[in-house]
Amino acid sequence: MFRYNEDMVGHIFDYCRERLSFDPVTLDFSGEKEALDAALAGLMRPEGNDHEKVLKVFADHLAPAVISCDSPRFLAFIPAAPTRASMLFDMIVSCSSLQGSSWLEAAGAVAAENQALRVLADVAGLPPEAGGVFVSGGSAANLSALAVARDTASRRGGWRRRRLRVAVSDQTHSSIRNALRILDMEELVVATTEHRLTGENLRAALASHRHRGDVVAVAATAGTTNAGIVDDLAGIADVAAEKNLWFHVDGAYGGAALLAPGARHLFRGVGRADSFVVDPHKWLFAPFDCAALLYRNPALAKTVHTQQASYLDVFHEGPGWNPSDYAYHLTRRARGLALWFSLAVHGTDAYSTAVEAAMAMATQAAARIEAAEHLELVRQPGLSIVLFRRPGWEAADYHRWSRELLAAQVGFVTPTAWQGETVARFAFLHPDTTVEMVDEILATMK
Ligand SMILES: *Cc1c(COP(=O)(O)O)cnc(C)c1O
Repeated sequence: MFRYNEDMVGHIFDYCRERLSFDPVTLDFSGEKEALDAALAGLMRPEGNDHEKVLKVFADHLAPAVISCDSPRFLAFIPAAPTRASMLFDMIVSCSSLQGSSWLEAAGAVAAENQALRVLADVAGLPPEAGGVFVSGGSAANLSALAVARDTASRRGGWRRRRLRVAVSDQTHSSIRNALRILDMEELVVATTEHRLTGENLRAALASHRHRGDVVAVAATAGTTNAGIVDDLAGIADVAAEKNLWFHVDGAYGGAALLAPGARHLFRGVGRADSFVVDPHKWLFAPFDCAALLYRNPALAKTVHTQQASYLDVFHEGPGWNPSDYAYHLTRRARGLALWFSLAVHGTDAYSTAVEAAMAMATQAAARIEAAEHLELVRQPGLSIVLFRRPGWEAADYHRWSRELLAAQVGFVTPTAWQGETVARFAFLHPDTTVEMVDEILATMK
């Protein structure tokens, strides 16, 4: 099974070539468990199977049971739109078994990943000494960053006997709350003003909080996933500096808009973050799974995350950057290389244009909704997200409509909740989404 098999290489490359050529990518469907179980039955057996047969099971039964998040008609959750360059380079990462744990083993990969991280640090305005690592997703990045926030505060203040708290807003992403639970920390939930956390909100919440000293960090959101709202980062940074709090910025979805000159003003203050997260697998057009985690002072993260084991001592004897030291992992795929290649090939201007296209589509969709008699805009778009309602519809109507839309392959749009009301939501990201597609979807809501 370790031999080069020209036949298998041919079949797999043919499949990839065809998938890469889809224009546009079809939406496809969710799956039925019975049908999938039947297709998979008997494949795991001592003598194995012909590779063509297994590939055919994938192509005929499994692939169509995965909704394509890289379809321009995928407008639910947060879509994906990896560039061809990034998808192709991901194949190189696999075919070369490129890992990116330590400088000793993988200096070439690590140097390139760091070059891509530097682009993100620069647009965020982080200082030259900032650095970090690509992890599997925003959830992993938030967890790793908040672990550093906690341990840095513990070392500084000796709070060991008390549970430490992180100030979050009522709009904070679920992964932050999950991370706090895992880290045995508590949240101080700060009320927002029009769903946006401001410095004033934070200051007031800290002033009325009884156990003042136990709040050690604040987690701001740079682009809420539900509505695209960016917190008052500059105001929050002021309070964080004043109260000696770790300033974490979760830009997993929205951070990409830093590349759009027209949106940059929304992020004023992000350069003062102690830790900053942005997911290239979302709006920076990289394949799954890829999240960038940057620290203002990486040495603090290194103290927290470096694993000590005799067989690893050689990692730390030489010079160079060990990505393993900056999150809770050890072995890691050089997952930042796909982004690196695509950025180097296409240039940052192409990224700015593509990010702006999604925001322009949100603006256009909002105008169509405002002009439609049967629809209402819930609020002006936030970054590339549009919330809207169909007056007269209840939750069940939105869910039925969403299912029918997918069944007809017109779009994948899922409802969300806004102030207790079920509403429809577009998340734009794919540069090939057109206003005609939006019109087609809106017409189904009459
Ligand atoms: C998507 C998202 C996350 C989680 O990122 P994953 O890559 O899905 O783990 C965290 N925060 C925000 C704001 C997000 O949009």
